[in-house]
Amino acid sequence: MFSKVLIANRGEIALRILRACKELGIQTVAIHSLADANAMHVRLADESVCVGPNAAKDSYLNIPSILAACQITGADAVHPGYGFLSENARFARILEEHKIAFIGPSAHHIEIMGDKIQAKKTALELGIPCVPGSAGAVTSEAQAKETAREIGYPVLIKAAAGGGGRGMKVAKTEAELSVAFSTARTEAKAAFGDDAVYMEKYLGKPRHIEVQVIGDGQGNAVHLGTRDCSLQRRHQKVWEEALAPTVPMDQQASIGEICAAAMRKLKYSGAGTIEFLYENDEFYFIEMNTRLQVEHPVSERITNFDIVYEQIRVAAGEKLSLKQDDVEYFGHAIEVRINAEDPQTFAPSPGKITYYHPAGGVGVRVDSAVYQGYNIPPYYDSLIGKLIVHGRTRPECLQRLRRALDEFIVDGVKTTLPLFRRLINEPDIQAGNYDIHWLEKYLEANKQ
Ligand code: ADP
Repeated sequence: MFSKVLIANRGEIALRILRACKELGIQTVAIHSLADANAMHVRLADESVCVGPNAAKDSYLNIPSILAACQITGADAVHPGYGFLSENARFARILEEHKIAFIGPSAHHIEIMGDKIQAKKTALELGIPCVPGSAGAVTSEAQAKETAREIGYPVLIKAAAGGGGRGMKVAKTEAELSVAFSTARTEAKAAFGDDAVYMEKYLGKPRHIEVQVIGDGQGNAVHLGTRDCSLQRRHQKVWEEALAPTVPMDQQASIGEICAAAMRKLKYSGAGTIEFLYENDEFYFIEMNTRLQVEHPVSERITNFDIVYEQIRVAAGEKLSLKQDDVEYFGHAIEVRINAEDPQTFAPSPGKITYYHPAGGVGVRVDSAVYQGYNIPPYYDSLIGKLIVHGRTRPECLQRLRRALDEFIVDGVKTTLPLFRRLINEPDIQAGNYDIHWLEKYLEANKQ
């Protein structure tokens, strides 16, 4: 087992990892930017190193500084959390060269899943169902037209190097295709420095359903069930549930097993998430995230399994501590993301938290790194906490969420808490009747 882990992240996820390390008896090193000198992850870690100025590119993404921090403190492993360097194959490789363990998959697995065309090819080879589309990159308008005729309109043009929904364009007819094709390429080039695009059938009303997997790199892997993350704004998830409320259990088990079997075949190491769109009772692979996800706590809650613990154990070379038969599901869990944002306009709302009272009580977990008097810096993501609730059934979980939202107080900055207090009264939310466009439509219809 490792003796000292450096946590290359900030905020709630740095704290989440720190807690797992403490329970495993591992020393912790926090890194931070100048702006984060007083942050909770710095206060709770055994040691801390300032790795640069405020901007993430100079601090949390500063590989030479982070490497120096590992060497100064003698850390033998790095946990990257999510975002920042978590899916950076070069970083994983550099650590490997310096004999420091990367708590995550191999650089090779990060690479094959990071390129979307390659990822889709790999998924197909592994027997994972994919959205019908082009066999690889589409390089000319003529080829785009031919592909569209084969798969049928509407079609979606996507950037191979995509992320955050950028470089994606829909074409409903052949007349729209040439503009969509050239703008997708131009946007892809501008955003990612790579104009490679591919095509897929555009699904009209899908749900976003994903499968949590974890493997030990020795051929053992399990899945921890599904999550429904369809409630999104601008492709950002805001509310997540486990298990997915509308998918029949036998179908959940079979897609889970397909994913776990694929990870065994790949000899995948660490936690990962295989994301699907789900429409007309079919699953369609869209991408794999080779890291811990923001919404991992809902899966932890329903399986009573600590995903971060296991990430650390397998990175240290231990075998996976459970088999698929050991995975059981208990009740229902929901997570809502509390962002420091205006709940109407979603404009960031940094500043000082003048009063803070998190929810508590049975079935409630709050993952957050803020405290009363904390000054939320303007430089990073606006996520300030996650409220995770559990119930024996989905209705009980919703009641508990309503109660917890009533208790939660954050004063001094605006937060998305009022949005959730409204959403919980919506009949569609109560019935679990929503797709990936539901929230955008709701926000448009309920502008105040
Ligand atoms: P990114 O990496 O840019 O987030 P994804 O492939 O994950 O790209 O797609 C982002 C979002 O775009 C998905 O969550 C979904 O909302 C939508 N999307 C992706 N592929 C399709 C498709 N074939 N049909 C309809 N919507 C899609």
